[in-house]
Amino acid sequence: MFHRIVSTSAHAAVYKAAEYFCIKLVLIGNDGQGRMDLAELRAKMNQRVILVYASAPGYPHGVIDPIRDIARYVKEWGCCLHVDACLGGFVLPFADSEVLGSAAYPEFDFQIPEVTSMSIDTHKYGCAQKGSSVVLYRSREIRKFQYTAVSSWTGGMYISPTQAGSRSGGIIAQTWAAMMHFGSDGYEQAARQILLAAQKLRCALRDIFPLEVVGKDLTMVVAWRSLSKSFDIYVLNDVLAEMGWHLSVLHSPPALHLCITSANVGTIDLFVTDLRKAVDRVQKGDIVTSGAKAPIYGMGNRMSNTTVVDDLLKDIQDVLDTT
Ligand SMILES: *Cc1c(COP(=O)(O)O)cnc(C)c1O
Repeated sequence: MFHRIVSTSAHAAVYKAAEYFCIKLVLIGNDGQGRMDLAELRAKMNQRVILVYASAPGYPHGVIDPIRDIARYVKEWGCCLHVDACLGGFVLPFADSEVLGSAAYPEFDFQIPEVTSMSIDTHKYGCAQKGSSVVLYRSREIRKFQYTAVSSWTGGMYISPTQAGSRSGGIIAQTWAAMMHFGSDGYEQAARQILLAAQKLRCALRDIFPLEVVGKDLTMVVAWRSLSKSFDIYVLNDVLAEMGWHLSVLHSPPALHLCITSANVGTIDLFVTDLRKAVDRVQKGDIVTSGAKAPIYGMGNRMSNTTVVDDLLKDIQDVLDTT
C-alpha cells in the first residue's frame, strides 16, 4: 500500500481521498503552533511515501505549514508535494504587505521547485459557486495522470479529464464571471479587510483571559483555546451560540475558530464585545443548559474508539437523507 503523509491539521477531504484510493494516511503532529512537525516528518519519510500534503493555511487554525522545509525531505525521498491552498489561494497572494508587516508569509507555492500540485477553491474566497474548484499541476506530464482515455469502448472514443464525469458548464461560466467581476483589485481589497479584521480579533483575544490564540500566522482563520482547566471552551461555544454566534468547534486541543469572510468582516467589533460578555458569563457560571452541546463535543474528544463515532455520523447522514 502506498503512503501519503499529512499533518493532523490537513483537511478531512484527504481522508476521503485516501479511503477512495486505498492509500494509507500517515499522520504527523504539530509543533505546538499548528504547523507540521518537521522532526516527526523526517522520522516517518520512507520509500513508500508517494506524497506529502501541506496546507497554506490549514482549516483548523489558519496556520501555514513550513513548506520550504518540508520540500527538503520531499527532495531527499523523491515524492510529490501537494499544497492545499483551498482557503488561502484567493487571499494569501493578495495580502497587503502593509497589513502583514513583520508577519509576511513564508513561500508556499510553485516558487518552491518540489511543489508538484496545488488546490485552490474558487468556491471559497474566489466567491464563485460551490461545485467549482481548481487543482493545479506543475507540469502537463503530471496532469495527464488525471485523464482517463478509453479508445476501445463500444460507445466510441472516450476521454474524461476529471474525476467527475459530466459537469455543468453553468458553474464554469459562473466561476469565470465571479473572477472577472472581482478582478485582482477586488480580491486585494477583500483580503485587506479580512486580514485587518483578523488582526483586530487576534489583538482582542490577547487581553481576554483565559483565552489564547492558536497559531502565529495572520490569515482569515482565527482560532483560540482555553488556558484554564476550569474554563471549558465548549461551554463558551454554547453561550456564544445562544447569543447568535455560530463558530467552528475544533478537537485536540479543544478550541474554537472564526473564519473571517467579506460577509462577516463588519461584525468583528460586535463579536469581540459579545465574546467578552460570554467569557464573563462562563466564569460566573451563568451558562446555557437547554440545547447545550458542550457535553457532546467533550465526549467526542475523549472517545478512543473513533470508529463508533464515525459510524454514528454515517447513521445520522442516512437519517438526514431520508427525511
Ligand atoms: C474547503 C477545504 C478543502 C476542500 O473542501 P471541499 O468541501 O471538499 O471542497 C480542502 N482543504 C481546505 C484547507 C479547505 O478549507
